[in-house]
Amino acid sequence: MKVLVINCGSSSLKYQLLNPSTGELFAIGLCDRIGIANSKLEYEIPATDFELEINQDLPNHKIALELVVKTITDKEHGVVASIEEIDAIGHRIVHGGEKFAYSVMLDETVLAAIEENNELAPLHNPANLMGVRTCMELMPGKPNVAVFDTAFHQTMPAKAFMYPLPYADYTELKVRKYGFHGTSHLFVSNEMNRIMGNPEHSKIIVCHLGNGASITAVQDGKSVDTSMGLTPLQGLMMGTRCGDVDPATVLFIKNKRNLTDKEMDDRLNKQSGILGIFGKSSDCRDMENGIKAGDERAILAEDMMIYRLKSYIGAYSAAMGGLDAICFTGGIGENSAAIREGAVKGLEFIGAKIDTAINSTRKKGIVKLSTEDSRVLIYKIPTNEELVIARDTYKIVNENK
Ligand code: ADP
Repeated sequence: MKVLVINCGSSSLKYQLLNPSTGELFAIGLCDRIGIANSKLEYEIPATDFELEINQDLPNHKIALELVVKTITDKEHGVVASIEEIDAIGHRIVHGGEKFAYSVMLDETVLAAIEENNELAPLHNPANLMGVRTCMELMPGKPNVAVFDTAFHQTMPAKAFMYPLPYADYTELKVRKYGFHGTSHLFVSNEMNRIMGNPEHSKIIVCHLGNGASITAVQDGKSVDTSMGLTPLQGLMMGTRCGDVDPATVLFIKNKRNLTDKEMDDRLNKQSGILGIFGKSSDCRDMENGIKAGDERAILAEDMMIYRLKSYIGAYSAAMGGLDAICFTGGIGENSAAIREGAVKGLEFIGAKIDTAINSTRKKGIVKLSTEDSRVLIYKIPTNEELVIARDTYKIVNENK
């Protein structure tokens, strides 16, 4: 079985061809700057370390996907003889709203239902759906499956997902907390449960820290609360997103600075977070270099990130009435020893003790970071969202046979 996983953004198309059962990765790559100047395709065969970059005009997603198909089926450096060898296509869809608590086989009815959620994710869902339609057109007859970022969080109880706004805003406008990064939180919490021997009851906190960052409380395998909300803006401080602020600041700044809605939205989503506080970059590595150079705003930015992370860990431990494990994942979670150490330092009172020596090694893969006498396990677990998408695709295709 070979599944093509597609993650289509407004100007990018990431792809992986993999075996959902073994996780074997045949090819991985992306098309970048679609519809913009200097577009290109990147292609890699991990098994042989073969890498290829094709600089070519990619005016739209259809042409980009055609190039992907051409590359993976190429006689010389392809990984399949023809598209016949591709059994199914799995698509990352950002917003499934309340309708989609599970992955689903895509057809016109499902596409129309997903389109209803476009308003909730105007930057992501239309691009995701364009990826689906392009695949249907270029590879007719192949099963296409939608895997949603929001689905894993549909188990949250109402007390966690409701906002204390007028009730009609929920019933009429669907305003509530949805949560994102669901495939990552599912994958990492499943891995943690497996490491713990799949106990009947478990209380796990997953910190997915990348450019976007969210934290989820997973009780008995189910998401019971998460930090992102109606959109991915709520919660932790991120690369360029502010995370939690007093909602009144939004109107205050907008009025004082005389900003349009778009300008205000950009300020919150693209100019805040690490970039807003540090000022020089949104990248965690640049911030950490700034700290080494004694940059006070870099130090403040990291302090704020850590403080907010720790506050959420405390809140979710209280919400679950205890804690068995804390997991770190994502570019920052997997690589920044300082953020991990900062987030759990001082949490000895809930039983979490980190081994600072192990934490500061650059060991790859799954690494146990807690000390032997720590009651709460602390782990670094590399995420694999594409594998979740491929596995779900395989499952749904088999169920529909
Ligand atoms: P995305 O949300 O775009 O998928 P990633 O999960 O790739 O993001 O994470 C990107 C973040 O990870 C960036 O802030 C980057 O600086 C950070 N990062 C990557 N490697 C390191 C490292 N060695 N040390 C600290 N931060 C790192």
